[in-house]
Amino acid sequence: MRVVLTGGAGFLGFHLATILLERGDQVVCVDNLISGTRRNVDDLAAAHDGFEFIEHDVSEPFSVEGSVDAVMHFASPASVPDYLANPLLTLRAGSYGTFNTLNLAREHEARYLVASTSEIYGEPQVHPQPESYWGNVNPVGPRSVYDEAKRFAESATAAYRRTYDTDTSIVRYFNTYGPRMRPEDGRVVTNFVVQALLGKPLTIYGDGTQTRSFGYVGDIAAGTIALLDSGHPGPMNIGTPIEFTMLKLAEVVLELTGSSSELSFEPLPEDDPTQRRPDITVAREVLGWEPTTTLHEGLPPTIDYLRGLLQL
Ligand code: UDP
Repeated sequence: MRVVLTGGAGFLGFHLATILLERGDQVVCVDNLISGTRRNVDDLAAAHDGFEFIEHDVSEPFSVEGSVDAVMHFASPASVPDYLANPLLTLRAGSYGTFNTLNLAREHEARYLVASTSEIYGEPQVHPQPESYWGNVNPVGPRSVYDEAKRFAESATAAYRRTYDTDTSIVRYFNTYGPRMRPEDGRVVTNFVVQALLGKPLTIYGDGTQTRSFGYVGDIAAGTIALLDSGHPGPMNIGTPIEFTMLKLAEVVLELTGSSSELSFEPLPEDDPTQRRPDITVAREVLGWEPTTTLHEGLPPTIDYLRGLLQL
């Protein structure tokens, strides 16, 4: 297959591109390097023949020469500080970017997969969250630039399927971590690991009793490619249904880094969801996919990667 992957220079994009290239597919990465990195692009290009890079903002229309069998729209800021710093760009990536990539898929009669998020469930009133839950999002709060952009992206994708019979699908991610995250990304795993490695206090927002379910990127990328290949329309949750409080995560990070950093308690960001855990029954049944990497297995390679970048 020849796959157009927007956001291919990002954390998840790097791992998706790697799986596709290793199995012999070609990847055309489209990315404006807002939160993706040149390093990821260079490493993919050096390791594989079938990799092409187009530096472009997907919010502006674009075309791709030659055959296209699949379009994966993964370009968007994804960490809370990134999308709060780039609110309009985030809305544009989810709206114009989704239309532009849907049009590309339609033009080439290609399979289409858009990256959505558990953020569309907002502050969930149903726990764990199945795909059938419609969510509870504040449409005008600061996080809405991401949540509503992704909700719009899902709506546009479903409308292309209904209107043009485009072969679309939607994946909803939960909290994903692993090597290739930027140390300054701002998400909790990278914050805690970097703070622990530098001997700085681990910043717990709120009282640390809020929960998230952390999926190792190797599992999450494999589930995504299985969804791409399956022909299933989605939406489909791809996440690891094991829930941790932030206090527990801090404890595990301190244990695995051997750090004696203190904890420092900081204000809870506005509209920070109190709990989040995927119901992955659909992924299990349709894809036969199951995440297998525990936090104790997935954190060490993540810690090693960040230690390497920090030159410790
Ligand atoms: N968080 C934290 N300390 C940090 C960064 C985040 O306690 O340094 C908390 C944050 O308030 C949230 C959870 O960790 O409750 C996950 O935050 P992240 O930004 O990683 O992802 P998201 O909020 O998008 O799930």
